[in-house]
Amino acid sequence: MASTQTKGKIGVTTENIFPVIKQFLYSDKDIFIREIVANAVDATQKIKALASSGDFKGDLGNTDIRIELDEDKKVLKVRDSGVGMTEEEVDRFINQIAFSSAGEFLEKYKDQIGSIIGHFGLGFYSAFMVSKKVTIDTLSWKEGATAVKWSCDGSPEYKMGESTKKTRGTVITMYLDDDCAEYASRTKIQDLLYKYCKFMPVKIIFGKEQEWKDGKYVDTDKDNVINNIEPIWTKAPADLKEEDYMKFYRDLYPTEEDPMFYIHLNVDYPFNLTGVLYFPKIKERMAIDKHKIQLYCNQMFVTDHVDNIVPDFLTLLHGVIDSPDIPLNVSRSYLQSDRNVKMISTYITRKVADRLEEIFKEQRAQLEEKWDNIKLFIEYGMLSDEKFGERGVKFALLKNTEGKYFSIDEYKNAVAPTQTDKDKKVVFLYATNLQEQYSRIEQAKNLGYDVLLLDCELDSHFVNLLEQKIEDCRFCRVDSDNAENLIPKQEEVKPEMSEEDKKTLDELLKSVLPAGNDYFVEARNLGEQAAPVTITQSEFMRRFREMSALSGGMNYYREMPESYNIIVNMQNPVIARIWADRENNGTLLKQVADLALLENGMLKGKDLADFIARSRELLK
Ligand code: ADP
Ligand code: MG
Repeated sequence: MASTQTKGKIGVTTENIFPVIKQFLYSDKDIFIREIVANAVDATQKIKALASSGDFKGDLGNTDIRIELDEDKKVLKVRDSGVGMTEEEVDRFINQIAFSSAGEFLEKYKDQIGSIIGHFGLGFYSAFMVSKKVTIDTLSWKEGATAVKWSCDGSPEYKMGESTKKTRGTVITMYLDDDCAEYASRTKIQDLLYKYCKFMPVKIIFGKEQEWKDGKYVDTDKDNVINNIEPIWTKAPADLKEEDYMKFYRDLYPTEEDPMFYIHLNVDYPFNLTGVLYFPKIKERMAIDKHKIQLYCNQMFVTDHVDNIVPDFLTLLHGVIDSPDIPLNVSRSYLQSDRNVKMISTYITRKVADRLEEIFKEQRAQLEEKWDNIKLFIEYGMLSDEKFGERGVKFALLKNTEGKYFSIDEYKNAVAPTQTDKDKKVVFLYATNLQEQYSRIEQAKNLGYDVLLLDCELDSHFVNLLEQKIEDCRFCRVDSDNAENLIPKQEEVKPEMSEEDKKTLDELLKSVLPAGNDYFVEARNLGEQAAPVTITQSEFMRRFREMSALSGGMNYYREMPESYNIIVNMQNPVIARIWADRENNGTLLKQVADLALLENGMLKGKDLADFIARSRELLK
């Protein structure tokens, strides 16, 4: 080590890297803390590794990383007892920035720069985003090394000389910029350390814990420890209890309700990935926060935007993924086509399905209890991911209008004896609203049928999916036909009527129904007990409309008038009476039609008032 001070220019090919760093990283200055602390962690782990391999024979001593802030002087120090650097190493690692044309690179990737910076040897230089001057005091572990002091005031010139540092390791001193005064705050630094360093694998201490005394906060003599060096995802599942997973969740999301289930991820071939994912309690799709999965790289926080790393439906999960194999140095759109990322995504999907299947088999009661809160997630997954869709058919549950749960297979077997139609298809009857479709549900039940409740916002899509996945099955909403006709068991014998009579019936009915809709009037023989007039909407048309409403497109179909089938039961005694004297039974027909409208919740306003008045009149 030369005793005279040396000066030099930092070896980057761009004229001056500092303006570039300051300009492009402006939006994400906060990450400097992660970079500086991560270097301290790296250096500490290196010395530990050297000690355990026997290369370093000295005393390891206390290897905690200490962070000190002087709020008044606006100076932040990060102190480690790691490997340190020799003069030659400072020159190589700090002065010769590890890659060429940094400026060009930064320009190209400025959007994802936050996650890149650490991976291109720019990590240390991020200190200049917030500092007007940075110094390094470092003493290498190597025998005979002398301490080095390096300093740089933000121009491309650095100074290098001797340091007075006596102990092994490195101190990075950041003299905070005047326009970065916000970092000269204990709470700010504390928040950043929590965000970025909470699970780093070496103990990090930020000053002392404080207590409220005589009207202000004062230091106690207890170290303020920032991180948990062994978060649960680094441990073996066999060593953990349910309670450990729940506690970890509460640590991560102190304000959230307890999760429904968890999944421990742990794989080391062909890629390395660990993590714990949680199913949050989901009630409404809109209310879901999609940025609750945190991505780590060897316990270093990288991002909470994992959109291109896990399939979209899995971004609804919460938790942590840690993988050194997710490339962070590429653009976001490239990520999706990366081989590792694809495998990771497939792996996670498979693990989630495995776990759900396991819960289905071993904790059925719990699954039923929590089903309503995870159903949206599972349906979304099955609809958006083909593989998950195939797996889901095994563990997805169906709930009937009595609140009983069935697997899809169980349900099919249960209803097949009574609900198989003339075409040998098992008909799954369903309602979407218990109140509005009450009388239809009752009518179906009276015929010995079971009715499912599908009241979730994705259900109209889900029904289509299930029809494809389940063999010989068809879904049918309870109000899509006359109860007697929902599951036709044999070819129907239609009433014999002349074309002219059909036309008369058509006109009669249309004259008593509200204008503005399309009606298809149909005469049927449904027996004396069945209702005189029933209004239904074809399953097909209704689903089509619902789906176009959900997807927001295909306006053409949404703007078409609603069309209804008007089923007139010619065998019903009232209809027989009306039909026999059709010229003089207008009031009675109106009454019968209004009853059908009422049953469908379609009788409103003046029509409803008129109906009530007319009914009172008829009762006299
Ligand atoms: P990276 O960490 O990606 O290698 P950095 O710019 O963060 O890039 O650091 C450059 C190099 O400087 C590190 O690889 C390491 O060799 C050295 N270095 C930085 N900080 C320390 C430290 N606290 N102790 C020892 N070496 C360090
Ligand atoms: Mg680094």
